[in-house]
Amino acid sequence: MKKVYRRIFNGFSAPVVPLDCGEKCRHLNDGVPVCCDIGHAVPIMDKSEYKLLRSRSDLWSKYKPEDDHGEELVNSLHDDCVACECKGAKFCERDNRSLSCRAFPFFPYIDKSGEMLGLATYWTFEDRCWVISNMRKVTREFIEEFFDSYEHLFKKKPDEFDVFKDYSATMRRVFSRKKRAIYIIDRDKKFHAILPKGAGMHRVKKRELPAFEPFAD
Ligand code: SF4
Ligand code: SF4
Repeated sequence: MKKVYRRIFNGFSAPVVPLDCGEKCRHLNDGVPVCCDIGHAVPIMDKSEYKLLRSRSDLWSKYKPEDDHGEELVNSLHDDCVACECKGAKFCERDNRSLSCRAFPFFPYIDKSGEMLGLATYWTFEDRCWVISNMRKVTREFIEEFFDSYEHLFKKKPDEFDVFKDYSATMRRVFSRKKRAIYIIDRDKKFHAILPKGAGMHRVKKRELPAFEPFAD
């Protein structure tokens, strides 16, 4: 599996947006970009991904939980996975970021039939991640590399596909309960709204995409 992650790391390096989005959220988090703070997001890696990165750099180590919530997270992980922490945003090495770092705040959205429709957001970060309120700014290069990387990963490691299929189903359940649409970006950078309770999907214009406090105009 190291070979798979090596290929992904070589092919997935485009910035998510054409600016340093850390500048847009760090004021909410004592100067640290939200997704690079272990207090907000603990990167989870496949064990072979972790081994590969450890062989390239001393940037990463195993996450050491400091409270019950952290313990729960570690105990809930699949045997193939490991919770990690890096040395911090000041020491970031772009080439040695994990797949989850490269993809954040997006995950591959998979519908009931098993088709990867596009990029959906980790919605619990809506109140802290500027990109989620600015999906129209996501670069085409990022979208292309995102699809290529996850399609390769799913081909080589089908259980990863199952993880994201389940996560997409969870998002549908949560959003149906909230009577909210799920917004996704497809491979051609077209935007779509997936309506709650299985009521279908339709194209949306950039100006119809949602923005959330504190990033809403
Ligand atoms: S992806 Fe979101 S949380 Fe991470 S640095 Fe950019 S705006 Fe902040
Ligand atoms: S490796 Fe870089 S992008 Fe990933 S969490 Fe650490 S500082 Fe953030």
